[in-house]
Amino acid sequence: MEALIEATDLTKHFAAPRTLGEALAGKRPVVRAVDGVSLRLAAGETAAIVGESGCGKTTTARLLLRLLEPSAGTITFRGKDIAALDKDGMRGFRRQAQLVFQNPFDALNSRLTIRDSLVEPLRNMRIPRAEWDARVMLAMRRVRLADAERYLLRFPHELSGGQLQRVVLARALILEPGFLVADEPVSMLDVSVRAGILNLMREARETLNIAALYISHDLALVRYVCDRTLVMYLGTVVEEGPTEEIVRKPRHPYTRALVAAVPLPRVDQPRDALPIKGNVGDARTPPSGCRFRDRCPQAVARCAEEAPLLRAGGDGVLVACHLA
Ligand code: SF4
Repeated sequence: MEALIEATDLTKHFAAPRTLGEALAGKRPVVRAVDGVSLRLAAGETAAIVGESGCGKTTTARLLLRLLEPSAGTITFRGKDIAALDKDGMRGFRRQAQLVFQNPFDALNSRLTIRDSLVEPLRNMRIPRAEWDARVMLAMRRVRLADAERYLLRFPHELSGGQLQRVVLARALILEPGFLVADEPVSMLDVSVRAGILNLMREARETLNIAALYISHDLALVRYVCDRTLVMYLGTVVEEGPTEEIVRKPRHPYTRALVAAVPLPRVDQPRDALPIKGNVGDARTPPSGCRFRDRCPQAVARCAEEAPLLRAGGDGVLVACHLA
């Protein structure tokens, strides 16, 4: 399938605050937040990036939306390099690429009514005023707030978390985007309303043929909604492939530990996965060779010397591990 959005060797390094010793030595440390991530998504496809906090998944998403400038690498959208877009081209990209925020309580301006929040992207994208009401009502219907009049003149604090996240989704859909990034879209919501929001997102994605990228640490959610999954560790992709393959038969020791750590119904989980210790390492000073080696229960001498490349691991899975 033709790629709607494609990232190649995406890299983002941030300047890190310097210690006194580093300043005196003239060193300029960097945080290697994302290092060489490649990803492609076709229209209508869903993928997830999973990993612990600090693995680089949110930075990757922000790069894809051009909310951050990459240090290196390219991103094409509908075949065009987004770094080369002029002002009008960039406006078109912004219209096509939308973000569903994690926290619905922060995503909307508390001083705007729900209608004004929904109209804002229409105004920003210079959609003719005559279309606003019809688009608002359609977006509200898409998120099952059909009795929109009840909500449009209210303020965010007057709605429940589930209702607010529906409005946030309606706001992301109102421009009928081709690409949607959902950053932990239900993690702040009660368990009772999560499935409803995920189902709405799936319906909208199917109706509008949207390519969707979910950012999550929740493998159960990812398994429910995503065709493909990329597992990130310390700025790099360590495993990627069809979600069901990743969950049922994880090849990388890190993925095995992630899968073993969560209860996934109807999956023969890898009970033999060895536990990993500690937290994601320091992206200022990643280990030589395999970045996971400090925590890997299977590390061998080669792991310190040579960074493993993503290689075919069977059944459509790519895995970066010398032992896989
Ligand atoms: Fe572990 Fe070595 Fe594989 Fe890295 S390359 S995951 S350290 S076995």
